Amino acid sequence: MTVTKTVNGVEIKILQGYNEIGGNCIVIKDKDSEIVFDQGIRFSRFRKFYNTRIQPLSPQEMKELGIIPPSDEYKKIFISHYHLDHLGLLFHLPPDAEVYVPDTEILEKFLEPYKNSPGWTTYVPPSVAININNAISNQDNVIPFYVEHSAYPAVAYYLNNPNVRILYTGDFRLTSPIDSIDSELHSKIHNKLLLKEITAKGYSTDVLIIEGTNFSSPSTPTNEYTFNNIVFEIFNIHKNSLIMVLLDPLDVEAIFTILHYVNYYGRKPVITNRRLLKMIDYWTRRFGWNKEIYQLLDENFEQVFEVVDEEELTKSQSEYVILTAKDEPIELARKLKNLEGTVVISLSTETKSESGEDESVEDVWFKTLGFIVYRLRISGHYYPYELRDILDTIKPKYVIPVHTEASRTVCEFVKRFGYQCL
Ligand SMILES: [Zn+2]
Repeated sequence: MTVTKTVNGVEIKILQGYNEIGGNCIVIKDKDSEIVFDQGIRFSRFRKFYNTRIQPLSPQEMKELGIIPPSDEYKKIFISHYHLDHLGLLFHLPPDAEVYVPDTEILEKFLEPYKNSPGWTTYVPPSVAININNAISNQDNVIPFYVEHSAYPAVAYYLNNPNVRILYTGDFRLTSPIDSIDSELHSKIHNKLLLKEITAKGYSTDVLIIEGTNFSSPSTPTNEYTFNNIVFEIFNIHKNSLIMVLLDPLDVEAIFTILHYVNYYGRKPVITNRRLLKMIDYWTRRFGWNKEIYQLLDENFEQVFEVVDEEELTKSQSEYVILTAKDEPIELARKLKNLEGTVVISLSTETKSESGEDESVEDVWFKTLGFIVYRLRISGHYYPYELRDILDTIKPKYVIPVHTEASRTVCEFVKRFGYQCL
């Protein structure tokens, strides 16, 4: 359902993402310009049409089914971060499209594995004809502000239109797991965050388009303190077991938080997933993390860290922590033997509509293999109780909630704090 609001002659068209989670696409149109914020995949709808047997035929089909937005009909697209419910399929954009992203170098790294993927994800990377630029370089008065999220980097966009100033938050949270354990590293990863910058520079906002994911979250995700406490306890108690951690390659803060505990408990981190290996290699160089890291012996892996083979891993289980991605521990455990009692820390960061993951098969395997599973969800989104502070800092004239199934609830909340929804 497209929702259109008009302020001072500027049209704000929400093509996707109103009263739903995942698949944001917002068009801002005035008499001489038209720009788009995000062009995500609607995974809730994706799952209705496709499964492991029935796969998408083309981006065109996905567009016709309303799974991706008609963003190919626009020329300027600003992407807030690289989760697929925001980034979408770059391949279906026309050659003359101008695409802006938080960081082209990281995008390039992130997209590389998709290029040769056999399924529909091969349409995630752009065709060679498309120009991808750093958001900071745009000529459209769009200012990117860094925000914290479970994918790095993530930005909010402030459109400094002479008729109406619009702030689109993308996805964001106010807290961070790494800040409380290594604040120096945290400030290397993040400086100049949205709320501080808005205050420091005195930007005024007419319309705040804000995400409200956690207003309709089925369970409240753990905050950074609980998360750190639980991970600390797991490492502390399961001293004699192999520990496997399932990580998202874009979740820099979760990666460094886990590396911190691995290091603190004197264990050796071993990466067993190719994609994660590439990103961890990049993150550690970018943020100057030079403590020891290992990789599993595998001829398909480029060697960037010291190598450990499967035999050594099976023999000295309590000395290692396996860093891997979803599904991989099951494959690894079926291959290696005697891993009963292994402890799995599964970090699912997002809700189902954002990623399209199904964990039920995984659960059956973990049970069969005799694993102890800790499923932790640390939110990439702010909590409802933090909304008041956000509003009092930004002081918007109007609010439009997106990326939530509870837009009415958000608006009721907004009203109680003395602000109003559009
Ligand atoms: Zn996201």
